[in-house]
Amino acid sequence: MKVTQEGLSKSQRIQMYDVIYKEADALIKKANPCKFKDGKCAEARRTGKPVYFGAPHCCGACRYHGKNGCRVKSLGCKLWTCSRFRLDYPELCIKLDELQKLAYTLDIYLYIRQSKRYAITRIKHSTYRFTGYH
Ligand code: SF4
Ligand code: SF4
Repeated sequence: MKVTQEGLSKSQRIQMYDVIYKEADALIKKANPCKFKDGKCAEARRTGKPVYFGAPHCCGACRYHGKNGCRVKSLGCKLWTCSRFRLDYPELCIKLDELQKLAYTLDIYLYIRQSKRYAITRIKHSTYRFTGYH
């Protein structure tokens, strides 16, 4: 995708939301940092305690959490890492941080615990001025 002086159009930014999400998802699937076992993530198993709001992972009490995991494409959540994940997977985190930086540069909003629909609605209603890559 070509980025001009004017930056990306809103529809290109929406496309980039999916591109960045797909890349982050592939990196995470390959490394499997959360290592779920019997419904508990690595951090819950390490501490022997719930992680968030009584749940054995960090999606506790989220309205989008279903029996098969996340039901929405939340890019903010996809690029978020807990401290254990960050300590154990530094190289993966560098790649995820690069994707996060790209998202910010393109003014793609990263909301935690929000759906793709919400993020995209914000893009559609935004006024965006591309200031170049940082
Ligand atoms: S990011 Fe951390 S707390 Fe969240 S599911 Fe993965 S290991 Fe668990
Ligand atoms: S939106 Fe975020 S917190 Fe909610 S289920 Fe999806 S990944 Fe988990």
